[in-house]
Amino acid sequence: MTFLPDSFRNRLALLFVGLALLVGLPTYLYLNHIYAAQLLRDRGGALRDLASAVAGVLGENLRERQREIELLAQSPLYRRAPLDSSDFRSSLERVQETYPQYSWIGLADAQGTVRAATGGMLVGQSVVKRPWFINGRQGPFFGDLHEALLLTKLLPPAEGQGPVRFIDFASPVFDEAGHLRGVLAAHAHWRWAAEVVQVMTPHDAATNGLDVFIVNQDNVVIYPDGQEKTLLAPDKAAFNPQSYTIDGWGDAISYLTATAPVREFIAGQSLGWRIVVRQPITRTLADVRHLQRVVLLSLAAATILFLALVWWSATRFSRPLERLAALAHRIEAGEEKTRLEVADAPQEIRGLAAALQDMADALLSHQEALAQSNAQLEEKVSERTAALAQANAELHQLARRDALTGLANRFAANERLQDEFLRMRRHGGSYGLLMLDIDFFKRINDTLGHAGGDEVLRHVAATLRTLVRESDFIARVGGEEFMVILPESSLADAARVGEKIRAGIAASQPPIDRQVTVSVGVALATPEQEDMDLAVRQADTQLYRAKEAGRNRVAGGPQSAT
Ligand code: GH3
Ligand code: MG
Ligand code: MG
Repeated sequence: MTFLPDSFRNRLALLFVGLALLVGLPTYLYLNHIYAAQLLRDRGGALRDLASAVAGVLGENLRERQREIELLAQSPLYRRAPLDSSDFRSSLERVQETYPQYSWIGLADAQGTVRAATGGMLVGQSVVKRPWFINGRQGPFFGDLHEALLLTKLLPPAEGQGPVRFIDFASPVFDEAGHLRGVLAAHAHWRWAAEVVQVMTPHDAATNGLDVFIVNQDNVVIYPDGQEKTLLAPDKAAFNPQSYTIDGWGDAISYLTATAPVREFIAGQSLGWRIVVRQPITRTLADVRHLQRVVLLSLAAATILFLALVWWSATRFSRPLERLAALAHRIEAGEEKTRLEVADAPQEIRGLAAALQDMADALLSHQEALAQSNAQLEEKVSERTAALAQANAELHQLARRDALTGLANRFAANERLQDEFLRMRRHGGSYGLLMLDIDFFKRINDTLGHAGGDEVLRHVAATLRTLVRESDFIARVGGEEFMVILPESSLADAARVGEKIRAGIAASQPPIDRQVTVSVGVALATPEQEDMDLAVRQADTQLYRAKEAGRNRVAGGPQSAT
């Protein structure tokens, strides 16, 4: 299959790919966008609900602990019993047993000295500077997370964690008269917050990259442990309890973030804690990526499938056209018997093939007719050319022939003279020249008439032919004047022939009852002569002398006097 850059097939395929991209890509992007937005809304809502739930449970737990201490402080034992009673210690230890997250519960007197405590810890020591004591004298108090100071050495070491941290609950203790007896306080281990959050956190949080933080009012992460740091983002002001945000947290990752405040649980004391839940946006959108892959793959598969279909159907059209073109080229190359047949092609192409076949047939038959008439024409031309050549040859003969005697005429004599002269000049040698004139011809004419004269002229010509050699040349050059050229001859040879002619004619039997004689002038043409006509003039002069000398004689030979 040839891959022509602008073939029908490729153009159609290209067009289709373009269309697929034009329609498929916006659809894909739109779906993607809609789905991603929906997913973010859903996940954002879920994160917000989780934050609210954790905040609610944490707040509720804190409120319970606070209420517990308050109720204990108001119980009859605490209102009435002497401060050094051993009942306090056993009461405190019962509470710790029911709620083991209390690391320490103790009672300080109004002067700030610890009078009873779980495990007897810090008894007799002054806590007058502790915030829980200072604030607890006024009313119920909750102390923000802090590291253990006095208790650090007394408590068993925590397993693999950082410093021991507490939150404090405190409540004043009054006697029946309403006078301050002391302050009851509990230090709850921070581990407790971790347990609350862990219970609330979905079990697949780790795999989904879900993080839950407790953040205090200074924007410092207080849970999880060991991760205590100020949150860089989202900014405290940006937290919107009704919604969720997408933010960077100072690292390269964007997070979907939701937050919820931990409600205040002691009137007038705002803790300012917040629960912050975050998930990397890439995790949130993991489902989108999956959908993207599925949609993209389906789109690609559909495109490839349709492309194949387009290619196949285009091929069904273009293949017969290519074959038709190849067949047409074969006809062009001279294979005229080739038939333009594309039997399995669609109907339109078969129609085209038939039309082209008709056209080719018509052109070929015209061409044949043209070739035939050309051949006829050429035959005719060559016939005519031959006839013309014949006519020309005859004309040539006629132009050089004397009609009366059949001898060469003056024109032919001049040509022959020129030839002989040139040959002599080139190859040397010499040729003889005889000029003849019938004696008293006028009288013959006068007595026998012009026709009789013609008879005599024919007789002299015929006789002359018998008297010279084949290679000699005879011409009638005037009315009753003849010239004879004798190639390769000396003057003596010429004189001898002259004499032979004179004697031959004198002895001949003319068609009249009177003797016919001729006078002959002899001359010799030699290579040193510059002028072709010199010998002719000399022969004429000798002829004149022969006439002068009495006619029927030869003049100009070697022994003739000059
Ligand atoms: P001479 O001996 O001096 O040559 O005498 P002549 O009578 O031959 O004198 P001249 O040469 O003057 O005469 C030639 C005559 O030949 C003149 C002319 O009428 C005649 N004549 C020339 N051509 C022809 C021809 O073709 N046919 C006939 N019948 N007569 C011709
Ligand atoms: Mg004459
Ligand atoms: Mg004469």
